[in-house]
Amino acid sequence: MSIRSFNPPMRTLMGPGPSDVHPRVLAAMARPTIGHLDPAFVGMMDEVKAMLQYAFQTRNHLTMPVSAPGSAGMETCFVNLVEPGDKVVVCVNGVFGGRMKENVDRLGGVPILVENAWGDPVDPNKLEDTLRSHGDARLVAFVHAETSTGARSDAKTLVEIAHRHDCLTIVDAVTSLGGIPMKVDEWGIDAIYSGSQKCLSCTPGLSPVSLNERAIEKIKRRKSPVPSWFLDLTLVMGYWGGSNKRTYHHTAPVNALYGLHEALVMLQEEGLENAWARHEKNYHALRAGVEALGLKFIVREDSRLPQLNAIAVPANIDEAKVRQLLLSDYNLEIGAGLGALAGRIFRVGLMGQTSSMKNVVLFVNALKEVIARLQHSAGRSAAEPPALRA
Ligand SMILES: *Cc1c(COP(=O)(O)O)cnc(C)c1O
Repeated sequence: MSIRSFNPPMRTLMGPGPSDVHPRVLAAMARPTIGHLDPAFVGMMDEVKAMLQYAFQTRNHLTMPVSAPGSAGMETCFVNLVEPGDKVVVCVNGVFGGRMKENVDRLGGVPILVENAWGDPVDPNKLEDTLRSHGDARLVAFVHAETSTGARSDAKTLVEIAHRHDCLTIVDAVTSLGGIPMKVDEWGIDAIYSGSQKCLSCTPGLSPVSLNERAIEKIKRRKSPVPSWFLDLTLVMGYWGGSNKRTYHHTAPVNALYGLHEALVMLQEEGLENAWARHEKNYHALRAGVEALGLKFIVREDSRLPQLNAIAVPANIDEAKVRQLLLSDYNLEIGAGLGALAGRIFRVGLMGQTSSMKNVVLFVNALKEVIARLQHSAGRSAAEPPALRA
């Protein structure tokens, strides 16, 4: 065997995540590994929790990173809050809402769907109607930023409606945290989860979660034990909890947490509001460039996510070929459409560190050249050389 060290190519990550990771975060992750119960490490974990409270805008005591990717944060909320037979209202407007339903199914819950067209935000009136006809539902789940379509739902309004009907809320903020306003306490969100690799621009593999007292009460009143040992918050809290005595639960991913710490320090240095404003500003630049090429966004203007832009593929253009050329000739990654939107959209992420004017200009110029090249070569024999680069 003569397998050598792996040296990845240098890419610009403009897909649906991971986003570009700053060298400061990578440098932090290369620092010496110490024990996960070392007092120095425990002190760093407390800082991670405090900075996550800032990112979520919450004082929730139970705010911590689950040691696994965003999907595990999703599962943490569902396995702890859903019991067999529970009716759970799940709003679906893309892939990730569909996964929430899958979680409820597998836990023996009864999902009641509020279905919306892909590309639309969740309709608050539909949620209201559904809750009126299912008075025994006690939980509402929805995705704040649907990464599969680029649609932003009105989290504040949806939570208000859920509470009026005596329901707790589970909110997916994997793509929203750090990119658009998210105010957990002000909006009264009961359980929320996110991911490290989207607008927080850390490496993939950690899932910040936060639960308020109402959610914790509900977990304490469970009739059946939480069906996952690893994700059982009552156990995890003994490890991450505020008390001085930490009990071993699992070995925290020590160096990955150095990375999240550094990413959160950078967020704090920039300021949350400034980060939101930067995402908004660079979306406007992207939009101007994309529209100048004659291309269209699929989400209506007032519910677009600045960090995830779903752009319709122009007629007669091979979507996969565009992505392939961007990657091979520009080291630029963008995302494909998922599910119903496969082959029909490009998903262009401007998340976290990736959200910069430099990347907007790189993408717009590269896209322009690649589309021109494909249009130019269309109808010609494959043997002919490609058109000159712009
Ligand atoms: C990326 C994403 C997830 C899943 O996160 P992973 O880290 O890939 O497990 C869940 N929900 C949304 C909205 C996402 O964008």
